[in-house]
Amino acid sequence: MSVGEFDLIARWFTRPARRAVLGVGDDCALLLPAPGMQLAISSDMLVEGRHFLPTVPPERLGHKALAVNLSDLAACGARPVAFTLALSMPRVDEAFVEGFARGMWALADAQGVDLVGGDTTAGPLNICITVIGEVPAGQALLRSGAHSGDELWVSGALGDARLALEAFRNHVTLGAEPFAQVRAAMECPQPRVALGQALRDIATSAIDLSDGLLGDLAHVLERSGVGADVELARLPHSEVLAAQPEAMRHECLLAGGDDYELLFTAPAAAQDAVRAAGRATATRVTKIGRIVERGGVTVLDTHGRPLDCSAYGAFDHFRS
Ligand code: ADP
Ligand code: MG
Repeated sequence: MSVGEFDLIARWFTRPARRAVLGVGDDCALLLPAPGMQLAISSDMLVEGRHFLPTVPPERLGHKALAVNLSDLAACGARPVAFTLALSMPRVDEAFVEGFARGMWALADAQGVDLVGGDTTAGPLNICITVIGEVPAGQALLRSGAHSGDELWVSGALGDARLALEAFRNHVTLGAEPFAQVRAAMECPQPRVALGQALRDIATSAIDLSDGLLGDLAHVLERSGVGADVELARLPHSEVLAAQPEAMRHECLLAGGDDYELLFTAPAAAQDAVRAAGRATATRVTKIGRIVERGGVTVLDTHGRPLDCSAYGAFDHFRS
């Protein structure tokens, strides 16, 4: 007998709530925010062909669907509490749902976050998760707090997810091992949840990198009313990306997308605190430039000369 909507929810998406007052099964989930906390809420939708390729293993897709949402909470310095899952798929492919659920629950368990509800419908494959986190009132990291003189930092390494996409598109050829490495970066991003919370009292602004460094940095600069100098030579990257020709390297580093690293600013005097936050959360942090009074983004090449970046605009679903 085929699996119906309610069997599917019961079998793969219902678990006792740990932190929520009421989870899956009623008309609404119930959460009790801790005193003095604000709720941080964010949604991200994943559409096949747009946000993931049909080749992605279901388990990795389950991981990524939640990871990209947790990344938004990380960028606000919020602690994840719960999430909802709205799922549309053409039919119930048990192997797919099984794998998807396994990947999703592994990350949910690792982050101590409850699946508290959702919606399930037949249709094109489409996954929309909404995450709910909490952050002490007034302490959320925003895009608007960068000041001239602040230093600009990034977590992890940039560009591998984009390089994997280029390999899938047959624009570059990689050996088996390097390909496996960049493919994992694309399919299994690690949301910087612990680092985001550790930066609450340190960073002046933060954003997570989903659309590429230059595009996402532009959002921070616009909200904060400042400019930035970025030093190309400082941008953290893998050995695999380092082996690519210059044009590809620049494209992946500056306009890559799908990195899910945190880009943040902090006063120069907080440098040691930033490094300590990186160590405490076992997350690489790298200073990549500084905030200046105005003038948008200037990327300086290895000789300190401005690089022409006119080709690297912000990703826009309705223009790209
Ligand atoms: P309603 O018709 O009231 O919207 P549904 O019949 O859609 O409720 O869903 C029944 C219950 O299952 C609700 O608690 C809903 O939040 C939950 N639910 C539905 N789909 C999912 C899903 N994919 N993952 C988790 N919970 C789900
Ligand atoms: Mg419903």
